[in-house]
Amino acid sequence: MNSHDVVLIPGDGIGPEVTDAASRVLEAAGAPVRFQVHHAGLAALDRGDEVLPESTVDAIRHCGVALKGPCTTPVGEGFTSVNVQLRQKLNLFAAVRPVRNLDGVSTRFDDVDLVIIRENTEGLYSGVENQVTPDVVMSMKVATETACDRIARWSFRFATRRQRKKITVFHKANIMKITDGLFLRCARHVHQTEYPNIEYEEVIIDAGCMKLVQDPSQFDVLLLENLYGDVVSDLCAGLVGGLGVVPGANIGEELAVFEAVHGSAPDIAGQGVANPLAVTMSSVMMLNHIAESQDDPVCRDASSRIKSGYNQTLSDGCLTGDLGGELDTAGFVNALVERIEASDS
Ligand code: ATP
Repeated sequence: MNSHDVVLIPGDGIGPEVTDAASRVLEAAGAPVRFQVHHAGLAALDRGDEVLPESTVDAIRHCGVALKGPCTTPVGEGFTSVNVQLRQKLNLFAAVRPVRNLDGVSTRFDDVDLVIIRENTEGLYSGVENQVTPDVVMSMKVATETACDRIARWSFRFATRRQRKKITVFHKANIMKITDGLFLRCARHVHQTEYPNIEYEEVIIDAGCMKLVQDPSQFDVLLLENLYGDVVSDLCAGLVGGLGVVPGANIGEELAVFEAVHGSAPDIAGQGVANPLAVTMSSVMMLNHIAESQDDPVCRDASSRIKSGYNQTLSDGCLTGDLGGELDTAGFVNALVERIEASDS
């Protein structure tokens, strides 16, 4: 059987617990992947390495695909976010985050089916910050036509392939007329000239957030610049059960890194209680990506077995603590693996 080399970055905090859990699930489903473990974040520093070792970046360039646990980012000081550095270095310009209701996870809404597409390489995350005078600091929001056009094109292509009906851009171009104005202009242009059949709308982000929490079913694909995409992803996670259930992919022209939307959750790290579902769902996205890009039906099959497995597990009421259940990480994985294996017989 053809096996695919994939980089596994365990990450920090709950990262090693949830990526371990996902590896177990992939193995149970017979996913044809061979992990090469490389480190980043505090885990790399602890090993006497750089926070983002060149060997990790090179391994992703070589394999083309990685499954990544979250890396802790120091607040207000210290090194630049490893997550941001990795996306910028590898030019992983599109973050894709599907947000859907799951059977067995009850929330205020039962009709959430959104895809968030976040521009991943610029905006306020460009990291251009400086101290102008002792009491004045500034941060620069960078927008380039190349990146705005690229993410717009990618989003419309994605929407077309996935038979999505509508793209909504959340923006603040009433205030940031030049930067958000450029983002909007590019999206509008791609819509008008290449994808007039996909419905397109522009919503000012503050009103958009209100509309999202009132009735998320009015949206389909959301397209946002970097910071807005980061914030709105967590908001949308809250619509379907929280950060434990939202997967993600960072996609470039040739490389792809799959990771949950959540961070390293230091508050619960080491307790064995983290929900491994978000990273497991990210690994399903990874298998689909390999299946599509390398035309591998075995990956497709493993991905559907995992997906049916977790849908069944959740419907049976096997839930981790963050979803109101009683199971810890290992308990949830055992329940999931049991169902995947039962589907064999
Ligand atoms: P970081 O600094 O790495 O972003 P953080 O704790 O600030 O970490 P998140 O990791 O996104 O941010 O966590 C936000 C909250 O959601 C925390 O209270 C955390 O415990 C909870 N949480 C995040 N991921 C999970 C998970 N997989 N299972 C259960 N709870 C989670």
